[in-house]
Amino acid sequence: MASVISGIAASNGVAIAKVFRLENMELRIEKKEVQDTEAEVQRLEQAIQTSMSELEKIKEHANKELGEDKAAIFAAHLLVLNDPELINPVKDRIRSDKLNAEYCLNETATMFITLFEQMDNEYMKERAADIRDVIKRVHAHLLGVQLSNPSLISEEVVVIAEDLTPSDTAQLNRKFVKGFATDIGGRTSHSAIMARSMEIPAVVGTKQITKQVENGTLLIIDGLTGEVIIDPTPETVAQYEQKKKEYESQREEWAKLVHEKTLTTDEVHVELAANIGTPEDVNGVLKNGAEGIGLYRTEFLYMGRDQLPTEEEQFEAYKSVLERMEEKPVVVRTLDIGGDKELPYLHLPKELNPFLGFRAVRLCLEEQGIFREQLRALLRASVYGNLKIMFPMIATLEEFRQAKAILLEEKAALQEKGVSISEQIELGIMVEIPSTAVLADQFAQEVDFFSIGTNDLIQYTMAADRMNERVSYLYQPYNPSILRLINMVIKAAHQEGKWVGMCGEMAGDEIAIPILLGLGLDEFSMSASSVLPARSQIRKWSMTDAQKLAEQALTLKTAEEVQALVLKSVKV
Ligand code: PEP
Ligand code: MG
Repeated sequence: MASVISGIAASNGVAIAKVFRLENMELRIEKKEVQDTEAEVQRLEQAIQTSMSELEKIKEHANKELGEDKAAIFAAHLLVLNDPELINPVKDRIRSDKLNAEYCLNETATMFITLFEQMDNEYMKERAADIRDVIKRVHAHLLGVQLSNPSLISEEVVVIAEDLTPSDTAQLNRKFVKGFATDIGGRTSHSAIMARSMEIPAVVGTKQITKQVENGTLLIIDGLTGEVIIDPTPETVAQYEQKKKEYESQREEWAKLVHEKTLTTDEVHVELAANIGTPEDVNGVLKNGAEGIGLYRTEFLYMGRDQLPTEEEQFEAYKSVLERMEEKPVVVRTLDIGGDKELPYLHLPKELNPFLGFRAVRLCLEEQGIFREQLRALLRASVYGNLKIMFPMIATLEEFRQAKAILLEEKAALQEKGVSISEQIELGIMVEIPSTAVLADQFAQEVDFFSIGTNDLIQYTMAADRMNERVSYLYQPYNPSILRLINMVIKAAHQEGKWVGMCGEMAGDEIAIPILLGLGLDEFSMSASSVLPARSQIRKWSMTDAQKLAEQALTLKTAEEVQALVLKSVKV
C-alpha cells in the first residue's frame, strides 16, 4: 500500500526510483599485531578478490544499463586493485612489521592518495578519489562490514538518509542519484542548497523517512511539493511521470531566456547571478545564462579530503572559475567553515552551538595561516577575470578592518615579489548577522559592496536553527522584520553609492523576488537552476509596480500577510 510522507521541498523536480539507504558508518581501522603473517596476506588477497568480482558485476550492470562512459569509473577502480605498486608494498609491510592487513592497507593507500592529491593535474586528482573509494570497499570486506558509500552507487536510485552532510552530498554520483530525501534538515541546510545546484530533486526534514523504507523500495520524491510517496501504485507512478514531463517542458520554456537580459518591463536592469560550490558548478551557471557568480562557497574545496588544499590547488580552482566566466563578475567568499560544514582534519573541539560558534571569519582571523594562504591564491588568480572578494559572518567593523588589513598585507608582500594583481578587486562583506544589518550605514562607508546572506540572517534574527526541522516554520523570509532589515541595508548602501546583492536562498524565492526588486536590490544570486525562472518572473514586472508592492509589504504585520499580498499581485 502506498503511503505519503511530507517534508520540506528542498530542490525542484520529480524523481522516481528504488531506494538506496545511506547509513552513516565509520570504518574503524585499528593497528594490531599478527603472528601468522601469511594468513594475513591471504586475508588481504581474499578481500581484494571479493571486491574485484563485486566491481566486475557492477561494471557489467552499469555498462548494460547506463552505457560505457558511466561504467568507466568501475574499470578505473579495477585497475587500482590490479596495480602491484599499490598492493605489493602492503603485503611487504604485513610481512616485515607483523601488522594487520587493514592497518597496512590504510597506511599505504593514504600515502598514494596524498601524493596524487597534491599533484597539479586533474587526472591524478581523480585517481586519488578512485583509490579512496576502492580501498574503502576492500576495508569493508576485511572488516566484514556491509558498506553503503555514496560514491559506490552504481544504478539509478533515490538516496535516503537520516542526514546528508555537505561532503556526502558532494560525493553523490550525479549520474546515478536521481533524488534524495532525509529525516532532518531545512530548506537552507547545505545539503539542500547543493541539491539545487546539482539540479536533483530533494525533500528534507521528513522526520521519519528512514524508518519507513528499505533498500529497493520504489519511491517518488516530489521536490516541488515536499512529498515522498512510498511504494506507489502503477497509476500513481504514471501520474508522477506526467508531472515530471510537465516540469521538464516548463524548464524548456524557461531555457529560451538563456541569452536574454534581465530587464523589467520599464527597462530597468538587475543582475541575475548564480551560487557555486565547486569549479564544476560553472557548467550549470553558463547553461542557465547567469550574468555572474554572486557567491562561490570556497569551503567545498577544503571538504571531502584529509588535509588542507595547497595554495596552488586553490589558485588553479579560482583561476579556472574566473577564466570560464570571462569578464563576468565572480564574488568569491573566503572560507566559511563551521556550522554544518565541518573539517575533521582541523580537529576543532565540538561546540554546543556550532552556528553561533567559531565559524567563518572568526576562525580565519585566529588561524591566520589558513586565511593568508587562501588570500594569496585569490590575489594571484585575480588577473584572470573579474574577481570580487567577500568576507563571511562579519559581526563588527573591527573584524572587517582586521580581515582587510591581512588582505592588504598579503597583497603588498606578493607585489614585492613581482606578482601581478588586479587593481580592480572589489572587497565586500556578507550581511548575515543582525548587528551588521543594523549598522549597515557605518559599514557602507568602508566596504565596496554588501551581499545579504538571508539563510543566516533569518536564522539569527528569528533565533531558529536552520538545520532543525522542528523550528523550520520560523524560517520566514517574508516576515516584515526581515524585509525591514533588508530595506535598511539597501538604503544604507545606496546612500554611499555602493551596490547590494543577495546570495541567500531568498534571492531565488518567487514570492520574495518582486519585493526585493521593489526594494532596489541590485544583484540576485541563487542556485543556478533558479536563474531562468527568476528571469522569466522579473521580465513580467515594472519597477514602478514592484516599488509599490515593496512599500506596502513593509507596512504589513505578518509573513502570511506579505505572502497573500504578493500572490494577489502575481503576474502570469
Ligand atoms: C547565507 O547565510 O545566506 C549564505 C549565503 O551563506 P551560507 O548559506 O553558506 O551560510
Ligand atoms: Mg551564511
